[in-house]
Amino acid sequence: EEDAALLDEWGGFDEDRETRLPDPVVAVVGRPNVGKSTLVNRVIGRREAVVEDTPGVTRDRVSYKAEWSGKNFTLVDTGGWEHDAKGIHARVAEQAEVAVLNADAVLLVLDVTVGVTATDEAVVSMLRRIKKPIILVANKADSPQLQIEASNLWALGMGEPFPVSSLHGMGTGDALDALIKALPEYSEVAEPEVEGGPRRVALLGRPNVGKSSLLNKMAGSERVVVDEMAGTTRDPVDEIVMLGEEPWRFIDTAGIRRRVHLQQGADFYASLRTQSALERAEVAVVLLAVDEMLSEQDVRILQMTVDSGRAVVLAFNKWDLLDDERRFYLEREIERDLAHVAWAPRVNISAKTGWHKDKLVPALHTALDSWDKRIPTGRLNAFLGELVAAHPHPVRGGKQPRILFGTQVSSRPPKFVLFTTGFLDPGYRRFIQRRLRETFGFEGTPIDVTMRVRE
Ligand code: GDP
Ligand code: GDP
Repeated sequence: EEDAALLDEWGGFDEDRETRLPDPVVAVVGRPNVGKSTLVNRVIGRREAVVEDTPGVTRDRVSYKAEWSGKNFTLVDTGGWEHDAKGIHARVAEQAEVAVLNADAVLLVLDVTVGVTATDEAVVSMLRRIKKPIILVANKADSPQLQIEASNLWALGMGEPFPVSSLHGMGTGDALDALIKALPEYSEVAEPEVEGGPRRVALLGRPNVGKSSLLNKMAGSERVVVDEMAGTTRDPVDEIVMLGEEPWRFIDTAGIRRRVHLQQGADFYASLRTQSALERAEVAVVLLAVDEMLSEQDVRILQMTVDSGRAVVLAFNKWDLLDDERRFYLEREIERDLAHVAWAPRVNISAKTGWHKDKLVPALHTALDSWDKRIPTGRLNAFLGELVAAHPHPVRGGKQPRILFGTQVSSRPPKFVLFTTGFLDPGYRRFIQRRLRETFGFEGTPIDVTMRVRE
């Protein structure tokens, strides 16, 4: 009851920060003017309920919440992209590809009054490669004759064409019925949405590194124990802790306090615990003790954290025990063993004395801001253009791969896709990653850059 009162006092976060499985995502693709936007407006009943702006390719894609027969889904309108005279087929297909990669199913829209154009064919061949469920909308079938025309689209080999008039609202029901059947219950591509409540922190590190001391020092009496997964065998218990004005949720603090030291397999169980804490966390504080050499276990925990895609803060604990000699070696160990996480903010602390404990919250914010960050497509491509102009890819075997453009496909952590004309050297890829970090400031988050080669 005391806890409940404290939660009340801190205001409105007795509702846990919840992970929601996302609705399936449907991409509406097709060349300009076939009626994609008209169809989208028809489906959402012109409510214009914009959910989010996802950075698209030349224009930002727009998502809407939609519903049909009691089934919720997210509709992504890829309409309205810019036409450039040259290479329009490729452009449209590329635009569509990014949307389709992030979708569970596709509404492919064609214009029956025009028939199948070369641009349509480019979109179709891309869809064949990607293999997502496709509903073929034969749009502008405003009359019985045009509805018959629609059956010509069987020839595309994309399954049954649904004659639709988005303008007059005919035929959309049958197409949507077919769409609903093709959708998974929850999206298999969209990130789970975490909503509401305090942000989730995992305190990680090998036994005796100072996790429980740090938790005590930070939390003081301002804490609430929250039962996260009652009824499960592991029974992790979280604590909500006020740091300054803000509540934070520390994950699996029961595991930190319960000092299980199994004779055998302790490492294995510690790994499991670390893994499950990471799954529920948004940011991890990895503790390292400066009075001892970095151990294999330290390095392994750090690697698990980086691999999990969570934001990272490195906390060098027991700073009160550091002497000049040890400091000399520590700096070399950091250079040798932590070079691959040089992007993580570092705080030097003493959990015992409380020295620098107030440095942790700003570092957590830095890391989470980076983790959440989205770079608008225009800015990203301006950056890529300048970079490539100043430092073109080296010529290899007479060929010089080019970067056509790039887009950020997701955040938490940020992931980028670059469309290229050939495979990029690993060295060049690292160079791009480094410049991305320097330019956009991804301190505290892993980032992912993948290439898609255009033949
Ligand atoms: P988008 O570029 O694919 O998003 O296409 P729009 O939705 O902007 O539509 C392009 C044009 O086609 C507009 O003038 C629409 O009014 C028209 N249009 C869309 N759907 C239909 C339809 O079912 N029948 C007819 N006759 N015109 C349509
Ligand atoms: P955990 O196993 O990671 O939770 O580690 P504990 O918090 O239980 O700490 C292990 C031991 O290290 C305890 O004896 C602590 O008092 C000690 N310790 C933790 N932090 C510090 C620190 O900053 N300085 C010093 N000198 N000792 C510390």
